[in-house]
Amino acid sequence: MNAPLIDSFGRVHDNLRISVTDRCNIRCFYCMPAENVTFMDRRDLLTFEELERFARIAVTLGITKLRLTGGEPLVRRNLDELVRRLAAVPGIQDIGLTTNGLLLADQAEALFAAGLRRINVSLDALDPVRFKEFTRRDGYEKVIEGIHAAKRAGFDPIKINAVSVRGMTEDQVVPFGHFARETGVEVRFIEYMPLDADAAWEREKVLFAQEIVDQLSAEIQPLVALPPRDTRAPATDYEFADGIGRIGFIASVSQPFCLSCNRIRITADGKLRNCLFSLEETDLRGLLREGAPDDEIAALVRQSVSAKKEGHEINTARFVQPERPMYSIGG
Ligand code: SAM
Ligand code: SF4
Repeated sequence: MNAPLIDSFGRVHDNLRISVTDRCNIRCFYCMPAENVTFMDRRDLLTFEELERFARIAVTLGITKLRLTGGEPLVRRNLDELVRRLAAVPGIQDIGLTTNGLLLADQAEALFAAGLRRINVSLDALDPVRFKEFTRRDGYEKVIEGIHAAKRAGFDPIKINAVSVRGMTEDQVVPFGHFARETGVEVRFIEYMPLDADAAWEREKVLFAQEIVDQLSAEIQPLVALPPRDTRAPATDYEFADGIGRIGFIASVSQPFCLSCNRIRITADGKLRNCLFSLEETDLRGLLREGAPDDEIAALVRQSVSAKKEGHEINTARFVQPERPMYSIGG
């Protein structure tokens, strides 16, 4: 292996998030516009062969962990085939998937058979009416079915991702607390970030992690912070005092974790991004398609990582929201 991917702040990058599509079967308000979405031309999407090759190159740079995302990754046809290819890349130790769960009941077994073990299902509410307010679509029951199917298929861990939005999440907090206790599934609240297509985000609309900790501690049981399993993971995990039920927080707005970031991302159309909030990206699709040698592609990845900024500036007046919304970057 070559030298690891270290940026100018000493951060080592071993985690690659791969977006496999920008298409989605729902329209979460914090991510996509309600209508008139222009999706990428299918010919612009990296093929499975190109993604597999890029994963092999990434391994030589020290990448060991992959996560498939999108858009909705399960709308990409034959995703299990991609998982199988990536799982077979020597050096890849861990593959995860983030999905809205709508198609999970149909695909859980095939994905598990292909070698996937870790799944995060995004579910912002535990009632169908609030679910539709978040997603602008029906489908709550299908997601719940998907979670059960993933459990039956053997996935472990399964985590729920819930975006925390002031005025919408407060009355879901306690039901999620009970859900975590009853099912053993970890629920992780993600602070709403300024990556929505409508550019309607405001700091006042974020329900902060600490407020949820306080609410759960007051209304169910005290929450106790767990020692981090991986100091570079963005989530802070808690357990209820009686040891039953785990709750995690990704407090990107109130407690940014940029200083320990270990991630890079490739969009479905083959642009490398060194940060979710980056205003620049590096085109790799051209090189992958023109038959450029691995070394040249690796050098470009290295260059992008060394140009990584210290952190996002959400909490400053300097902040500029990236042109690409979340569904087009790959969350
Ligand atoms: N469609 C899949 C899903 O929803 O799980 C994968 C892609 S989605 C962009 C990945 C994650 O980003 C989801 O958990 C989603 O809730 C989260 N997300 C999207 N927009 C967000 C925002 N503006 N702030 C915080 N999280 C966001
Ligand atoms: Fe689709 Fe995921 Fe974005 Fe929701 S968060 S619109 S499910 S890509």
